Amino acid sequence: MQSEKRRRDVQRILTRALVLEIMLISATNASAGTAAEPETPWWRQQKIVFMWGQWNYARVDKSVDYWIGELPREHFRHVARSGGTVFAEKVGMVKGHAYRPAHARHAHDFGLKYFVTRYVGLPRYKVSPHDSGRKWVNERGEEPGGQYNCTLEPERYEKWLVEPILEGVRQGLIDGIHVDWENYRGTHECGICYCDICFSRFLQFKKIEADLPAKPDRFPWLNQQDLVVAYKQNFHDRRYEMFTALRKKLHAANPDLMFSSYDVLRPSHDGGHGLYAPAWDYVRAMHTPRTSYWTPDIMARTIASHGGSPTVRG
Ligand SMILES: [Zn+2]
Repeated sequence: MQSEKRRRDVQRILTRALVLEIMLISATNASAGTAAEPETPWWRQQKIVFMWGQWNYARVDKSVDYWIGELPREHFRHVARSGGTVFAEKVGMVKGHAYRPAHARHAHDFGLKYFVTRYVGLPRYKVSPHDSGRKWVNERGEEPGGQYNCTLEPERYEKWLVEPILEGVRQGLIDGIHVDWENYRGTHECGICYCDICFSRFLQFKKIEADLPAKPDRFPWLNQQDLVVAYKQNFHDRRYEMFTALRKKLHAANPDLMFSSYDVLRPSHDGGHGLYAPAWDYVRAMHTPRTSYWTPDIMARTIASHGGSPTVRG
C-alpha cells in the first residue's frame, strides 16, 4: 500500500513537471514568435561567391557597345551552376549606365544576388547642370591634367552613387554596390583637395580670417601654421559625412543593401593621394554593424593589418 502511494506521488510529481515543461516550451516559442529579432541577412545564410568578370563576351548582339550589351538569360544559369552566389554587373563602367533590370531579374531567377558596379572614375565627369565641375587641386596647387574633379562635392557623388540606382534598390532588384577603385590610365578618384571651396571651408571651420592664398601657396601656408594634419583630418571627416548621408538614402530604400570593393590601397603615382585616402572615407561610411563592408579575403587581411578596422590615411 505504502509503495502504491509512493508510486502515485512520484507519478503526480512527474506529471506536474511535464506540464510545467510544456508550458515553458510554449512560452519560449511564443516569445520567439513575437520577438522583433531582425531576420538573418542573406550573406550570413550563404557563402558569398562573388562573380565579377568581363561578361560582355557573352552578349548576343555584337553590334552594340561591348560594355553595355544585354546578356542572354542562359548566362546567369551558367554563373549560378558554376557556384556563384553574387553576380556583379559591368554596365556601370560606362558613363550614363548603371544596371539592367532584366539582368537583375535573370540573376534572381537563378538564385544569384545582383550587385551593380560603380566605376570610381566616373565622378570626374560633369554629371549635371548643377555640378560645378570644379577641378581637384593637389598639394602643389596643380590641377593634374585638368581631368579630376573636386573630391568633396556631394552633388556629384549623389548623381554617381545614388540617383541612377535608387529605384532599383527600392524595387529589390539591386542587392549591393561594388565600387571599382582601380586606376585605369589615371582615371581614378583623387585625394585631398585644395580648391577654392575646400580651402575656404577649412578656414571657416577653423575660424581663421585670412585671405585665400594662391593655389601653389596653400599647402606651404598650412605647413607654416602647423595645420596640415588638421586640414587632412577635417577633409576626411567631411568626406565621411558626405558618404554617410548617401548611404542612409540607399539604406532607407533597402536596409540590407551591401557595399563592396576590392583593392582600395594602391597608392597613386600622380602626386595626389590616389586611391589610398579617399577609399577609406567611403569604406568607413558604408560599413555598419549589420551591413559589414565586404571585400575579398585579401582586403580583409589588409584591414586586419591596420588594427581590425578601416582607418583614416592622410
Ligand atoms: Zn575641392
